[in-house]
Amino acid sequence: MSQPPIERLEARSAEIGGGITIRRALPNRHRRTVGAWCFLDHAGPMVFDAGGGMHVGPHPHIGLQTFTWMIEGEVVHRDSLGNEQLITPGQVNLMTAGNGIAHAEDSAPGPGGRLHAAQLWIALPESERRRAPAFRNYPRLPLIETGGFSVRVLAGSAFGETSPAEVYTPLVGLDLTAAGRASLELPLEPAFEHGLITLAGSARVAGEALAPGTLLYFGPGREALSVRTEAAARVLVVGGTPFAEEILIWWNFVARTREEMVAATRDWNAGRHFGPVHGSPAPPLVAPDVSGLRLKPEPGVT
Ligand code: MN
Repeated sequence: MSQPPIERLEARSAEIGGGITIRRALPNRHRRTVGAWCFLDHAGPMVFDAGGGMHVGPHPHIGLQTFTWMIEGEVVHRDSLGNEQLITPGQVNLMTAGNGIAHAEDSAPGPGGRLHAAQLWIALPESERRRAPAFRNYPRLPLIETGGFSVRVLAGSAFGETSPAEVYTPLVGLDLTAAGRASLELPLEPAFEHGLITLAGSARVAGEALAPGTLLYFGPGREALSVRTEAAARVLVVGGTPFAEEILIWWNFVARTREEMVAATRDWNAGRHFGPVHGSPAPPLVAPDVSGLRLKPEPGVT
């Protein structure tokens, strides 16, 4: 029996608020989604002076969940529902945009600090994408020690443990951290496709070298993956059932039609629908000109 496909996808650099350069592994020119995961940014690790760090002013989202995994540093989330939440290392912030929410994210004030985080988006399926917006902070996530790895279950289930993070399609998100040499046979849900990146150090996955800047993709049909490290490393695993719906991703929106993108853009730029975000030190973002938007955007426009 032939093995399911393996793809090696290169992340690209992008800039986010505060002038921070991040590595963006999804969407990718060659693959837009892994399960419902449709966006994968890796920020840091970095050290910054007073006033530095991440400062992403108020901006809107529709049709997705934003999923923030904090590794180092502290970031204040504020949203148009009135939530103000400090996220600290080891925690997940999960914001369900549904039919529309706005938020801002700022490194916590102070004499300077650190930032190391992954921020992902999860596309909402048709049946859920117009739901009311919501926000939750998850301060504690299941942790399993096995094979020299500390496995944090960020989303979905692994090793009999289930993350409390509320998601709407079958998916998984895991942080595998090794303090040194480690070797693990990671059980997989065979119906899932998977993608792995390193957040620190390097690893071998199913015999393939994995270093920063690359996403290794494994198609459905695998029951396990061997993950090995020779030295300290941190690997992020995302997976899920291949997302069956065709989605459009443009700016901060996930939708199905050009008309939805135009309406969301005009609503935000006119100050309608999404509501204000109070307390953010950074000015609101202005949506780019939507008039030239193609029905099927070229990869890499976000
Ligand atoms: Mn956002």
